[in-house]
Amino acid sequence: MLYTDKVITNIIQRTPNETEFHQAITETLMPIKSIIEESKIYQELSILERIIEPDREIKFRVTWRDDAGKIHVNRGYRVQFNGALGPYKGGLRFHPSVDIGIIKFLGFEQTFKNALTGLPLGGAKGGSDFDPKGKSDFEIMNFCQSFMNELFRHIGASTDVPAGDIGVGAREIGYLYGQYKKIKNIHEGVLTGKGLEFDGLPGRNEATGYGLVYFCEEMLKKSVNSLENKTVCVSGAGNVAIHAVEKSIAYGAKVVTMSDSTGWIYDKDGINLSIIKDIKEKKKLRILEYNKIKSDSQYFEGKFDWSIPCDVAMPCATQNEILLDFAKNLVKNKCIAVVEGANMPTTLEATRYLVENKVLFAPGKAANAGGVSASGLEMSQNSNKSRWEFQDVDVKLKAIMKNIFVNISQRAEEFSRKHDYIFGANIHSFIEVTNSMIKQGI
Ligand code: GLU
Repeated sequence: MLYTDKVITNIIQRTPNETEFHQAITETLMPIKSIIEESKIYQELSILERIIEPDREIKFRVTWRDDAGKIHVNRGYRVQFNGALGPYKGGLRFHPSVDIGIIKFLGFEQTFKNALTGLPLGGAKGGSDFDPKGKSDFEIMNFCQSFMNELFRHIGASTDVPAGDIGVGAREIGYLYGQYKKIKNIHEGVLTGKGLEFDGLPGRNEATGYGLVYFCEEMLKKSVNSLENKTVCVSGAGNVAIHAVEKSIAYGAKVVTMSDSTGWIYDKDGINLSIIKDIKEKKKLRILEYNKIKSDSQYFEGKFDWSIPCDVAMPCATQNEILLDFAKNLVKNKCIAVVEGANMPTTLEATRYLVENKVLFAPGKAANAGGVSASGLEMSQNSNKSRWEFQDVDVKLKAIMKNIFVNISQRAEEFSRKHDYIFGANIHSFIEVTNSMIKQGI
């Protein structure tokens, strides 16, 4: 058995329940297997065994009280995956599906994504199986304070800098930050995605969605094309989706779908984003409300199946949302590009099918790196004790996304794999992380 296969088989045996983690490892290592096998140094130094094992896995109890006085216990996690390139960096996810396998997959992905940004950032991820849905502000605050009561001892501006992810936005980051300062009495950039009133970065909130579209535009331009006059399907209705829709519209595209965990909407005339923002950001209601306001749109219960014809698909909800059958819908409708806004939203089989059918594919670790890039800029702003302007951040973000695209497409071409951005992203980030690990010794 080849070295890469042996390592993957072994980790699957040793972590039998961590399926998303296995998927992330397979999705990253298999496309670059021939390069790994060619350079004997990886096997000699046990690089794969080292790169798939987190530096540290932290698990803790979070006890909190609801508004009725009842006491609840949730599980908290922080996985500091790889610190070769800089302080650990990555978001916190609050969602009932969270377990160690999910956090490890996200931490693994984050390590390679952060390497692509070109900023000095290691990879980490954390979170809890706490479900923020339907909780009052006070309950959210109680939970965040209790979560930080344990997390604070593991993080710091030069150690590990968490941020948001699904279920963790500006409100949660504010409560977490307030508690950190109460415990440590240090005003430092220990979290990113903070409020603008207290050292947040203008543009951090928009960065993942905007960055996705900047990346998409670069990729389309390379095939003598652009987002202008294209039809785009987006899934999700959270921070990433909303800002991806906003920037796509600004680039002249028509976005016709969005979704949430209950259903999805199709508006053939193009989604009216101010209605979505009002429903999702202000009122925190279901996407069904859109259909009540815009009666000429359509609402469908359940999972979005990517059956609406589009030129570009932007999955911005969560992992494994494009299944093989949904990829077949995209190919049948002549979709030209899939640009991943979420982390690992396409299954392995669906990815394979799309690539075989010549659909341009922008993997999340490259295409959605705008969020963590802006987080890196927020860390610089905080350590300089300065305040930056939105325009300056946006210019920097655009440059970073362009640079990611140029680097990964050059790598792909270097290995005669033009337009294979999965290969380009994986090999470029793998080389960055492993070179750094090798130089720093075992
Ligand atoms: N959760 C985001 C991601 O998946 C952002 C992480 C960060 O800003 O640290 O990249």
